[in-house]
Amino acid sequence: MAIFRFKLLVAALIGGNALWGQNTDSLMLRKIHDEVLVNGMAHDNLRVLCKTVGARLSGSAAAQKAIVWGEKTLRAAGADSVWLEPILVPQWVRGQPEQCTWGLVGEKMGPAPVLALGGSEPTGGRIKAPVVWVKDLESLKSAAPQAFVGKIVFLAQAMDPRFIDTFNAYGTCATIRINGASIAAEKGAVALVIRSLTLAEDEHPHTGVVVYKEGAPRIPCAALATADAQALETKLQQGKNVLMTLEMTCKNLPDVPSFNVVGEIRGQQPSKGILLVGGHLDSWDVGEGAHDDGAGCVQSIEVLRTFKALGYKPQHSIRAVLFMNEENGNRGGLGYAEKARTTGLKHVAALESDRGGFAPRGFSLDASPAQRAHIQAWMPLLKPYLLHLSDPGYGGVDINPLRDGTVALMGLVPDSQRYFDFHHAATDVFEAVHPRELHLGAAAMASLIYLLDAHPFTLQ
Ligand SMILES: [Zn+2]
Repeated sequence: MAIFRFKLLVAALIGGNALWGQNTDSLMLRKIHDEVLVNGMAHDNLRVLCKTVGARLSGSAAAQKAIVWGEKTLRAAGADSVWLEPILVPQWVRGQPEQCTWGLVGEKMGPAPVLALGGSEPTGGRIKAPVVWVKDLESLKSAAPQAFVGKIVFLAQAMDPRFIDTFNAYGTCATIRINGASIAAEKGAVALVIRSLTLAEDEHPHTGVVVYKEGAPRIPCAALATADAQALETKLQQGKNVLMTLEMTCKNLPDVPSFNVVGEIRGQQPSKGILLVGGHLDSWDVGEGAHDDGAGCVQSIEVLRTFKALGYKPQHSIRAVLFMNEENGNRGGLGYAEKARTTGLKHVAALESDRGGFAPRGFSLDASPAQRAHIQAWMPLLKPYLLHLSDPGYGGVDINPLRDGTVALMGLVPDSQRYFDFHHAATDVFEAVHPRELHLGAAAMASLIYLLDAHPFTLQ
């Protein structure tokens, strides 16, 4: 027994010697991953956020509750200081569940699952009108000026499944939701119904913000679940006359006070500036805002918890920011950046997680060529964790207002194939987030922040 122990000791010493020769950074990345994968709190924190707060649209009582949760959770993670930064946010309420039916003229109307788009005007009672099929946004734009007088426009444009990165499919289709209503209204439509923005064909409508054009009539607008959109499109393409009824009681209310929540580990040399990690605390008012963006919030908090747990003392101050109002105004992102500018706060880099809590694949870099090269040189260290993406790309909505030509903006890039099954829909619940994938994302974020802290940019 004693000999066996001795052998183990020798083996450990030899192993230790070998390790001493290894790169400090790769050891630290291993420690970060071990800590998050063994002791990670992100999934437990997400459970509390989703199940005790749930959906939390800006300005709602639930959003206020989420702010309290954020403060408490950042403290529990060990942040040196936690505070709230006040902002004003728009307030939109959905009202009664939307009612929509459609059917062929002269036949029975059947109910269809719809959600009002966020910010939509109400219908003011029940609208009943013929439906006109419009293939895509370009066709809507090029239609004759009076083409849709008295009609409900059904904009059938679908996300293009040929994109491998589903965010590209979303990005090229989201304009139907954002801008469609005003274009249809200018041509006489009484309402707009879009095909939900998802690659899935199911019965869950997906909401999201509409932006009305200044000066254009503001018509009600809603998203139809894709399975129903498909059925409706088939009838309309056959040349059938379809009638639709729509009733929505949503409304826009005056702005109300709200907050960003900030937690910080003070740096050993705070004058070096801030490394920011963040996600957005608000969500749409359906589902539980689990992937969008509870995941980004708990991952950001986990970055601070991990550094504290490992006893890592960063040179830079490291901030986790839970931004409010990304979904329908970005007042949190704008307010945070404005305050940073007016107080002369220096941000070195900002990393946002707002693409779902799926297995991480790497990062998108919105940074100078020199900064990109600096980060890309670390990719071999990240490869063992299956992180390989480091392409130029968007950082995130919340951090984007920090752009000043010097700060590096970065986004966590997880696998995107299933994200739009859940995005802005009732399906975005805690159960849809896999703990291991969520935690790997948090570890990826902590790894990149560690590398940036240990090896600051030398060239801007
Ligand atoms: Zn989001």
